[in-house]
Amino acid sequence: MDIQFLPGVGPKRAALLKKELAVGTIGELLRLYPFRYMDKSSFIRIADARPDMAYVQIKATVQRVEVIDKKRLSVWVSDGSGEVELVFFKGIKWMFEKLKPGLEFVFFGKPTAFNGRMNIVHPEVDAAPADNHNQQSQQQQQQQQLPLHQQQYQYQQQQQQYQQQQQQYQQQQQQYQQQQQQPHQQHQQPQATRQTGAGATMTGVYPSTEKLKTGGVTGKVMNKLMEAALNKGLPYVEESMPEDLMRQYGLVPLHFALRNIHFPKDMVSLEKAKYRLKFEELFYLQLSLLKQKYVRSRSEQGIAMPRVGEAFNRCYEALPFPLTGAQKRVITEIRGDMKSGRQMNRLLQGDVGSGKTMVAVLTALIAIGNGYQACIMAPTEVLAQQHYKNIQKFLAPTGVRSALLTGSSKAAERREVHQGLQDGSIGIIVGTHALIEDTVVFSNLGLAIIDEQHRFGVEQRSKLWRKAVCGAPPHVLVMTATPIPRTLAMTLYGDLDVSVIDELPPGRKPVQTIHATEGKRPALYKFMKDQIALGRQVFVVYPLINETEKLDYQSLEAGAEDIMNKFPYPDYTTAVVHGKQLNDVKKFNMDAFAAGRANILVATSVIEVGVDVPNASVMVIESAERFGLSQLHQLRGRVGRGSEKSYCVLMTGHKLSKESRHRIELMCATENGFELAEEDMKMRGPGDLEGTQQSGLPINLNIASLAKDGIILNTAREAADAVLREDPTLTSDRNQLLRKELRKEKYQIKDYSKIS
Ligand code: ADP
Ligand code: MG
Repeated sequence: MDIQFLPGVGPKRAALLKKELAVGTIGELLRLYPFRYMDKSSFIRIADARPDMAYVQIKATVQRVEVIDKKRLSVWVSDGSGEVELVFFKGIKWMFEKLKPGLEFVFFGKPTAFNGRMNIVHPEVDAAPADNHNQQSQQQQQQQQLPLHQQQYQYQQQQQQYQQQQQQYQQQQQQYQQQQQQPHQQHQQPQATRQTGAGATMTGVYPSTEKLKTGGVTGKVMNKLMEAALNKGLPYVEESMPEDLMRQYGLVPLHFALRNIHFPKDMVSLEKAKYRLKFEELFYLQLSLLKQKYVRSRSEQGIAMPRVGEAFNRCYEALPFPLTGAQKRVITEIRGDMKSGRQMNRLLQGDVGSGKTMVAVLTALIAIGNGYQACIMAPTEVLAQQHYKNIQKFLAPTGVRSALLTGSSKAAERREVHQGLQDGSIGIIVGTHALIEDTVVFSNLGLAIIDEQHRFGVEQRSKLWRKAVCGAPPHVLVMTATPIPRTLAMTLYGDLDVSVIDELPPGRKPVQTIHATEGKRPALYKFMKDQIALGRQVFVVYPLINETEKLDYQSLEAGAEDIMNKFPYPDYTTAVVHGKQLNDVKKFNMDAFAAGRANILVATSVIEVGVDVPNASVMVIESAERFGLSQLHQLRGRVGRGSEKSYCVLMTGHKLSKESRHRIELMCATENGFELAEEDMKMRGPGDLEGTQQSGLPINLNIASLAKDGIILNTAREAADAVLREDPTLTSDRNQLLRKELRKEKYQIKDYSKIS
C-alpha cells in the first residue's frame, strides 16, 4: 500500500521519504526500524554526566552560541547543575537559527572527553516537554546578568585555547564524519539503558536526514507515521516466517515484532521483537546462500579424484617436518572434497606462517596423482616467484615438472611454458595474472589454487574458470592469510566450505610488539644495530596507501636516506624496494635481502604478501597509525618465522586518534589474527574490512549485525541448513512461504562460485 494513504503524507512528503529513505509503501515504512529509543521522561543532570557513558539525555537551556570559522557551531547549555558544550559540524545554519539562548531543549547524545573536559558532538535536539517554564526564564536572566568583564575574560581564555583546540576539534570532526559514513553502525551503538517501568513509554528514533527535517518530517512526525502505519497497514502484513520455525526457535509473530520494534511495550517485548527480526534477516540470507550450495552440489558435477597418488606419497615421506594437526585436518577435508565427485569450493584461512603453502603443494599433488594439472595463482610477481621457489624443494622427490609464468617471463620462456601446459608435460604452474591470458591453454586443468584471493577481481576469476576443458569445472581452493571473522566468512563465503589452519608450526617464538614515537628513534637504531650484530636482518616498512601518492614516496626516500646515513656502507648494507622500481631492480634488491647480503630492507608495503626471510627478526613499521589492523598483522607476520626471538616496532606520531590508539594497543596485546579481525570488524563495521567491498553481498544488514549477532547467526544458519537438508530446492508445499520470501530482492545473491 502506497505511503501516501497515510494521514499527514501528501505527494511531497511521500517523494521525500522515497528519496531520502527509500520508503515507498507502508510495508517498507514498517520495516524501517528505530536505531534507538527515547524515554522522554528521564533526564540526567549535566553534573552527573561522564564521558564514558554510552548516551545521555539532558534537558537544558541554551546559554551561548558561537560559530567558528563557519565550520563549527559551539553551543553551551546548562541545566542548573552544570554546563556542557554541544558541537555541531553540519547543519550549522539551521541549528544556529533554532538554538537561541534562553530556550530549553532536550538533547540526546554521546558525551566525549575533549581537551580535559566533556562535550557532546551532534546531539539530537528535541523540543522540551512543556513544563518547567520557571526554570527556563530564571536561567535566561542569569545569562543576561553575567557581568561584561567576566564575558570578556571568558572570551580571552577561549582565544588562548583556540589554536590548540582547532586541531582537536578537527580530529573530532574527522571521527564524526567517519562515523557518518557508516550508517550501519547506528545499529551497533549501545542502546541507552534506561529504566522503563510499567506504563513508561519509549518511542523510536529513526534514521533521518537534514532534508527530511527541513521538509517537516521530524522525529515526532515519524512516530506519528509509524503509529498510523501500524494501525492501517499491519492487518495487511503477512507473516514471513513459517509457523514451525517460529515455534522451534522461539520467535514472536511478525505483527507483535513490528508493533514492539516501533513502540516497545517494555524491554522484554523489545528484545523479543529484535531477536525475531534479526533472526529472520539472517535466516533468509543464509537460506539463500546455502541453497545455492545445495543446488550446485547436486546439479554440477566435479572431477572425481579418487586416488592420493604416488607423487603425494613421495612428497609426504620426504617432508623435513611432521605436518601440524591443523594441516593434517585440512588436507583430509580437501581430500574428501576432491574424491567426492562434486566440485570443491573451499576457502582455506590461516594466519601468516601457518603453513598454507605446504597444504597447497599436497593438494596440487593429489590432482597430479589423478592425471590432472594444477595451477597456483598469486597476486604479485614477488609472491609468485617466492611460491615457485618454495615448492621446488617439496617437488624434488616427486619428479613432477613445474614452471613459473609471470608478466616478466621472456618470450622464449613463455612459449616453452605454453607448450608444456598444452601438451600436459607441465604438471604444476605457478604464476600471476599472466596465467589467465587467452594464450594460456591447459591440457587438463583439474585444480586452481588462488592465493590471497581478495586481490583478485571477479573478472579475473571468471576467466580462469573458463579454462576448464575437462567437461567439469576444476576444483577451487582459495587461500587467504587475512583472517576473516567467522560470522563474516559465513556470509561472505556462505556457499563455500571453510577450512581453518588454527595452529602454527612448532618452535615459533612469539613476536614482541612495541609502540614507539619519534623520540625513541635513536634507541631504535641502537637496537637494530644490536640485532644486526647478532646476525639478524631488519625490515623497515613505509605506508604506501596510494600508488601514486607522491608524499609517501618522499617519506620512504627520506627514511631510506636516513637509514643509509646511520647505517653506513660497508659496515651495513641497505636494500630499498618499492613499486616504482623496474622489476629487475626490485628483484635484485629483494634477492639481496632474502640471501642475507643486505642487513636492512627499506620497503613500501609491497612486501606485505611477499618475502619469507626466516633470518629477519625485526619489523619496523613507520607511520603505523596509517595502516589498518589486518595490514599491520600481515606485516608483523613477516618476522618470527625463524627460531630467533623477533620484534615488531610500531612507529607513530605523538597524537593519535582514539581509533588509531586502539589499533596500536591491540597489536601490542595480541598476535592472534582472528582476534584482531573480530576487533577490526567491531571497530569499523563489516563493510570496511578488506575483501568485503567487491563481494556484492549485503553484509550491511537492516537490523542484524555481523559484528554483534554471531550467536543468532549461528542458530539461523543451522535452521536454514536443517530446512535445506530435507528439501534442497524448497519445492515441497510446506516450504512455499520460504520460496516466496527468498524472491525478495534483498535476498537475491549472485552465485559466488560461478564467478570464482
Ligand atoms: P603461509 O603460506 O601460511 O604464510 P608458509 O607455508 O609459507 O606459511 O609456511 C611458513 C614456514 O613454515 C615455511 O618456512 C614452511 O616451510 C614452514 N612450515 C610449514 N609447515 C610446517 C610444519 N608442519 N612444521 C614446521 N615448519 C613448517
Ligand atoms: Mg604463504
